[in-house]
Amino acid sequence: MLTCCVSSIRVTASTEAPSVLTESGASMSVDMWSIHRVVVFALAAASSFTPVYAQEFSQSTDPDCHSHDSQRSPHTVKSRWNMSVSNLIQDPDQLRVSCKKLIEAFPVDEVDGNFVRTVKNCIFSKSIPTPLKGPLRLAAVSKDVIEGILDLHVAVTQSEDFLHYASGGRLLLESVPLAHRYGGHQFGYWAGQLGDGRAHLLGQYYNRKGETWELQLKGSGKTPYSRSGDGRAVIRSSVREFLCSEAMHFLGVPTSRAASLIVSEEPVLRDQFYNGNVKTERGAVVLRLAKSWFRIGSLEILAQSGEIDLLRKLLNFVTDEHFPSISSSDPDKYLVFFTTVVNETAHLIAQWMSVGFAHGVCNTDNFSLLSITIDYGPFGFMESYNPNFVPSTSDDEGRYSIGAQANAGLFNLEKLLGALTPVLTQKQQKVAKMILKGYVSIYQTRIHQIFKAKLGLLGEEEEDNYLIAFLLKMMEDTQSDFTMTFRQLSEVSDMQLQNRNFTQMWALDDLSLHKHFSEWLNMYLSRVNGQQNDTDLDRQNRMKNINPRYVLRNWMAESAIKKAEMNDFSEVELLHHILSSPFVTQETAEEAGYAARPPLWAQGLKVSCSS
Ligand code: AMP
Ligand code: MG
Repeated sequence: MLTCCVSSIRVTASTEAPSVLTESGASMSVDMWSIHRVVVFALAAASSFTPVYAQEFSQSTDPDCHSHDSQRSPHTVKSRWNMSVSNLIQDPDQLRVSCKKLIEAFPVDEVDGNFVRTVKNCIFSKSIPTPLKGPLRLAAVSKDVIEGILDLHVAVTQSEDFLHYASGGRLLLESVPLAHRYGGHQFGYWAGQLGDGRAHLLGQYYNRKGETWELQLKGSGKTPYSRSGDGRAVIRSSVREFLCSEAMHFLGVPTSRAASLIVSEEPVLRDQFYNGNVKTERGAVVLRLAKSWFRIGSLEILAQSGEIDLLRKLLNFVTDEHFPSISSSDPDKYLVFFTTVVNETAHLIAQWMSVGFAHGVCNTDNFSLLSITIDYGPFGFMESYNPNFVPSTSDDEGRYSIGAQANAGLFNLEKLLGALTPVLTQKQQKVAKMILKGYVSIYQTRIHQIFKAKLGLLGEEEEDNYLIAFLLKMMEDTQSDFTMTFRQLSEVSDMQLQNRNFTQMWALDDLSLHKHFSEWLNMYLSRVNGQQNDTDLDRQNRMKNINPRYVLRNWMAESAIKKAEMNDFSEVELLHHILSSPFVTQETAEEAGYAARPPLWAQGLKVSCSS
């Protein structure tokens, strides 16, 4: 079995992450609660909504369809910046990516072809995507990414050319598609060579803002790293990745982005719940972007195979390109790099916790060196508050429960340190270990700041930890909805709170059933009412910019997927639109019940690693 799941492997205590962080559980102490604390990353970013019209085009049968030279339009010689009225690229033939930097920086696999093999002494293998069977349909597009990052006019996405470019049927100008060689620790164990088994890096795009983005197709066919997989991704998992990565961006959580989602008629066999019930689904491709797709596993494989010069090369590349504050001549540069990753990983996981996001597969191959959320699989947003919430049915040990993510981060950082060890001096190794010890406190401090902000608390009072822990414990006892409890606390006035007037506030209504609710309420009201230079309205506004009203609940994704599988993409479009402004109450979302108590049918929903 490929993957993320490895459900047959039993994780023993000795392979678990060091128990520096208290395990989450029913008998929570206030100490433990202190780890449950967001950054005021409020960012009701402007809506990037663009209506997507389902379009059907036949797959090109042109055998040369990969050869961009033969497809190049005469307009491509025009300067990218010298375009039209709108100043955005109007023709996808003009979208130029570059693989030069990556190919020049690293040795490339000398063997050609997409057959499965063990690859050594390189970072990438050249690999041509395998076109999907048509007709192809554009199921979703992010205007924010297409225009804001790729400088392409969104109208371009309605063309047949775009469908081919964004699904692997045709190559962008100057693209040399690459599959990345990486390894990883999966569920606590070294899994050896993994790599891009169904993803193709098309190249880097230098946009008009001066940013560099790496474009990648996911689901675009086999590569040397496909192992026993078919190189494909199905509609359901692709809809989930498209929607969730965009939703996370608008929630303010560092993440890869998604430009488009294209669905095909290519039959793909999947045993969704690994119970022998194999079904034919359809292939889909997401065009996704990140500043870099390098992971902890990118370094691990080099250290594990003793390719130390290459390890140094990759580290130098990553630090030079993505960590501008690190001087290339600094003898401690790898240590500074490690310190930054420790810090940023702690911050990322704290942000996941702030929105109730459980990644589902926190393996080292899914942990970015830039500390962004990548590789969306069986993720889930926690509904009823429960630190033991496990989004994936494939994770039967609960290794990656929401409350264990901070520990998983620590485990992964230890593996990162292991990979760096060959390039660190003995003294630097000692310092690195000390730095890693600081991870817990970095995480706790961040969580504390975040949850204080979620409660609208200003300044610092001694009882703040207790106030937060007390609330979370009540939420756990009453199974209150995580998102809506915080949101409704942001929408309720202090008078309403005082009078316990929770009409239509279903989550607060649930919470108020707790026998200690009044005690907590009194503490909370006295804390917020004692804040100087703050009004109740200010508190509400601050809180509403931090506590989303809408997150991608499983039932919402599921309902959109069911329609998408019937070629009705309206609900994907609606969700994409709503989740682009998660902090703003929207009529269509309210009508759809996105802030209401989840429907009963949602209770039995399951998500597995199968994708
Ligand atoms: P994931 O859990 O999706 O991050 O994948 C773990 C590893 O399995 C990565 O190396 C993926 O490229 C590979 N993989 C997952 N699904 C497939 C597939 N259908 N075909 C080929 N490789 C796959
Ligand atoms: Mg992965």
